[in-house]
Order: sequence, then C-alpha cells, then structure tokens
Amino acid sequence: MKIKSGDKVKVIAGKDKGKKGKVLQVFPDKGRASVEGINLAIKHLRPKKQGEKGQKIEFPAPLNISNLMLLCPKCNKPTRIKFKILEKSDNLRNKKVRICSKCKELID
Ligand SMILES: [Zn+2]
Repeated sequence: MKIKSGDKVKVIAGKDKGKKGKVLQVFPDKGRASVEGINLAIKHLRPKKQGEKGQKIEFPAPLNISNLMLLCPKCNKPTRIKFKILEKSDNLRNKKVRICSKCKELID
C-alpha cells in the first residue's frame, strides 16, 4: 500500500479537496482509508433503552486512496510514491520501502 495509518495526506478530489489530515485507518482490500477530519459522515445510533435519545456520531468515512496524496514528511510536499527494494537490509531479508518522488528521501 502506498499509504499507511499515521501518514499525513492531502485530499486531491471530492468534497474535501485541498484539505489535509492524518490517516487513521487503511482498508487495503477496499482501497480506502479514513482520514482525521475528512469526509465526515453522521452515524445515527439507536437508543439502547426505552426513553433514551438516539445519538448522532460524526465519523470520518473511508475514502478512495486514489483521492489522496501523501504529504512527504521530509519535504512537506504532496508527492507520488516510488517503491524501492532494499536488498537484505535487516535480518537478511529484502525490504520494500517508500521513496518520495520529489526529494528522493526514504519515507519509511
Ligand atoms: Zn519529499
């Protein structure tokens, strides 16, 4: 996945276009991610007991990863990701890392 939870991203399409936020959760099988404060939706909770009021809870609905662009933690710019294989880096296993296409820095 190009995006991981904890990444800072910029929204490049949809109703929250231009906003920035932190990725809360990634859903790889759906190709979606939820971002703090982005794409807010309201969930109505039914009252649990009689006489209680139902609740409205605001939560960030997952949005398509193609609508998000990673903000590089090194150069702070929205960037495309390149992958690089570090050969036998740790424990003699190959490791796939993400690289910023702007500043060429390793992201993780
Ligand atoms: Zn960068």
